[in-house]
Amino acid sequence: MDHDTVRDVDPAVADALEGEVDRQRESLQMIASENHVSEAVIDAQGSALTNKYAEGYPGERYYGGCEFADEVEQLAIDRATELFGAEHVNVQPHSGTQANQAVYFAMLEPGDKILSLDLNHGGHLSHGHPANFTGQLYEVEQYEVDPETGYIDYDDLAEHAAAFDPDIIVSGYSAYPREIEWERIQDAADDVDALHLADIAHITGLVAAGVHPSPVGIADFVTGSTHKTIRSGRGGIVMCDEEYADDIDAAVFPGGQGGPLMHNVAGKAVGFKEALEPAFEDYAEQTVANAKALGESLSENGLSLVSDGTDNHLVLVDLRDSHPDTTGGDAEEALEDAGIVLNGNTVPGETRSPFNPSGIRAGTPALTTRGFDEDDCRTVGDLIARVVDAPEDEAVIEEVREEVATLCDENPLYE
Ligand SMILES: *Cc1c(COP(=O)(O)O)cnc(C)c1O
Repeated sequence: MDHDTVRDVDPAVADALEGEVDRQRESLQMIASENHVSEAVIDAQGSALTNKYAEGYPGERYYGGCEFADEVEQLAIDRATELFGAEHVNVQPHSGTQANQAVYFAMLEPGDKILSLDLNHGGHLSHGHPANFTGQLYEVEQYEVDPETGYIDYDDLAEHAAAFDPDIIVSGYSAYPREIEWERIQDAADDVDALHLADIAHITGLVAAGVHPSPVGIADFVTGSTHKTIRSGRGGIVMCDEEYADDIDAAVFPGGQGGPLMHNVAGKAVGFKEALEPAFEDYAEQTVANAKALGESLSENGLSLVSDGTDNHLVLVDLRDSHPDTTGGDAEEALEDAGIVLNGNTVPGETRSPFNPSGIRAGTPALTTRGFDEDDCRTVGDLIARVVDAPEDEAVIEEVREEVATLCDENPLYE
């Protein structure tokens, strides 16, 4: 077989791939769910394991030739077990959404009841949104954050639970900047005999590093994404006690998936090994310190933060107080022109629409990976505020773009 590169075979795709690496190098990736994995994780994901069918689990596959697939998957499982302390781990879900799907499929019947956080308040599509299968197969009711404080309203959650009598309560969020009090949600679930799924997709890395309290050992099920703060191969993970292990494994495969993406499982194994190094704890701590610095800088520049700050890797800005005529979409677009990539996001009490929401969400996981410290993040906060103050001013955008270029040069990526 020839060793043809993508460039040899397909220049159009090669150009786009190079363009993407340059884009990541030359702009600030502040989408809170994104990160930059190591070149070791990229190598693993780009390996020949992509060819291998390994339906089943280590030691009990439906196909031959699985000895290396077994080794890799077992390493991923062992490392995840060490990182999170769960009794049982399944590393095969193709995504965080499919990890959640496995829990629902294992434990619920169609028509059963899910209680979850409203998407506008920071929830996720896979927690019961009408456009997602969860919203169509199950009966869904939603709790909210306290409109005054921006914190989860745990009393409201418990009242909803008492009135709705859900089969499962879902916690863990996509746009929530504060520490989650897992026990309080577990208490609400216990009071109504509901299961509790804690979806740590965003904060998987913070939990692994001990920088955010862990729901493992509290919630019945813990799901996560493996490519966000934890910076490993792309996909999902499910964790549970031994009593649910067989049901969860069967719900992942054959319940919801065919063959595992073994190259991604290899990327998970490598990323989990990296996350077990002491340096990963420093990384997670720095990510949170950077988000705090970013939030302080944005506040000092007159922007309102939902909950007035952050305990984790992201901040959520509500533009309505400071910039009533600028939507999150306007801000997102102007910032992207300036080299700062983040997303417009709904905010609690949203008065616009998900397509043109009233806030922006910004995270520090990717910036921290490339070496940004608190001072850099304070500078980034100033730059964001300058653009949001003048989203149509080409001169401002040009100035900011130059400052972004300097920050990128000082913190190189994929050299
Ligand atoms: C990102 C996310 C997921 C999973 O996302 P995938 O894109 O399917 O991997 C699940 N739950 C929450 C809360 C998330 O933020």
